[in-house]
Amino acid sequence: MGNQKKHTWRNWSGSQSCNFQGFMAPSTEKEIIDIVERCRESKTPLKFVGSSHSFSHIIADDSSVLLSLESYAGILKIDESARTVRVKAGTSVHDLSRALWAKGWALENLGDIEEQALGGAICTGTHGTGVRYKNLAGFVREFTLVSPDRGRQVLWAEDPEFKSTAVGAFAFGLVTEYVLDIVPKYLLKLDMFPASMSEFESNFKEWVYQNRNAEVFWFPGSESALVKLTNEVQDQNVEIKNKKSEFFANYIENKAFGLLNRLNKSMPFCNGALVKILEKLLPSTTKIDYSYKVYATVREVRFQETEWSLPITALFDVLKEMRAVVGKGNFKTLFPVEFRFVKKDDLHLSPSYGAEDRVYIAAHTYYKDSFYREYFRQLQQIFLRYGGRPHWGKMFFATAADFQGMYPMLDKVCSLRELHDSQGLLPTTTLKECVFGNFKKT
Ligand SMILES: Cc1cc2nc3c(=O)[nH]c(=O)nc-3n(C[C@H](O)[C@H](O)[C@H](O)COP(=O)(O)OP(=O)(O)OC[C@H]3O[C@@H](n4cnc5c(N)ncnc54)[C@H](O)[C@@H]3O)c2cc1C
Repeated sequence: MGNQKKHTWRNWSGSQSCNFQGFMAPSTEKEIIDIVERCRESKTPLKFVGSSHSFSHIIADDSSVLLSLESYAGILKIDESARTVRVKAGTSVHDLSRALWAKGWALENLGDIEEQALGGAICTGTHGTGVRYKNLAGFVREFTLVSPDRGRQVLWAEDPEFKSTAVGAFAFGLVTEYVLDIVPKYLLKLDMFPASMSEFESNFKEWVYQNRNAEVFWFPGSESALVKLTNEVQDQNVEIKNKKSEFFANYIENKAFGLLNRLNKSMPFCNGALVKILEKLLPSTTKIDYSYKVYATVREVRFQETEWSLPITALFDVLKEMRAVVGKGNFKTLFPVEFRFVKKDDLHLSPSYGAEDRVYIAAHTYYKDSFYREYFRQLQQIFLRYGGRPHWGKMFFATAADFQGMYPMLDKVCSLRELHDSQGLLPTTTLKECVFGNFKKT
């Protein structure tokens, strides 16, 4: 690939880093197609990057060149009658939300940050919470893929290959454009309050099924939880009310929480006392704001994360087993375990694939805590026993044997992947070893 300069790359949490053989940020689709074609001809491994907010081994690969869509961003068209937006895949969720809002539109659901590029967010199965809403890939009507062997291809939702490629596209090619469903813009009211884990169990049905979006955070080593319930506000003239919750977000979730984590790191023997302080700080507050502002949170305290999707009916059995790992405070973290709820879908590599709606369970630690591997491994063992699937963008230690049977359509996906990337230029070594090397040719 010519005289590319080495490029040092690190992800958001610092869990992954790499010296790439070169870095390219093309600004036209023609340049993108040329780069992918030149990589195919020269057999140069190629990786794509969005905003580097993934924790897992899906980008870093020393022998590769790195292609970013940071210069290929922006809205191409809002089609009001079809209720869709055509957007370049390098656009951030942040920029898309604001541009849509200015024209009276919004996305129906979002995750809890907005820094991601659409390509990165959609192809890893990024999701928000709300049992009536699918992950972000569920909003895709059409996308344009540039792959080493097939070149440029447009995939519509009705195309038989769409289901195999919309989530997991990073292993097939570079997505350059999406057409996404949009809805008229809406306001949300967030109610946030402390509760106990036994209240979570007894109020589960009401919280999860009678609210638009429900999210529960459980603090390890305690029975304390923080609950967030969000609902649409019908009165468009209602007063925007966000001061108190913004104070909480800025000063408690970030500044005070950062300080507590630094103390916890230097004095782990104080963990029990710090958990008690944290329990006292859990707020009761409400917020009414533009939908995208209610979804997004500011995350200044860096962390490591694993997240697994499980059948929602397994939740309380899983929770019972998790108590031995999380409830006893064996791992001295102050970061909560998070529970979110997502509608099932039919995309072959989506962690939400299948016949049942899903609960997503995420565990976190302060980014400097080295015990995260052991903590996440112990939880992973539980999740695997209950049909869990890891989020593609979060850390996981699952092996090829674990992936066997995890995705019923994996053989079909792998055969199709070969047609897009017969030289295996796109997946990282880890992905080849645990997912895409592991298939029978049909
Ligand atoms: C603080 C924080 C909060 C988060 N909150 C949530 C959340 O609420 N819900 C959730 O589900 N996840 C969440 N995540 C995870 C995050 O949404 C995913 O990891 C997402 O992939 C990150 O997007 P990105 O643009 O940074 O992608 P990257 O991490 O840069 O890339 C992710 C993958 O996508 C590929 N890729 C990127 N662009 C393209 C493209 N155009 N075509 C093909 N492949 C491409 C890359 O090669 C890589 O394999 C969070 C992560 C962090 C750090």
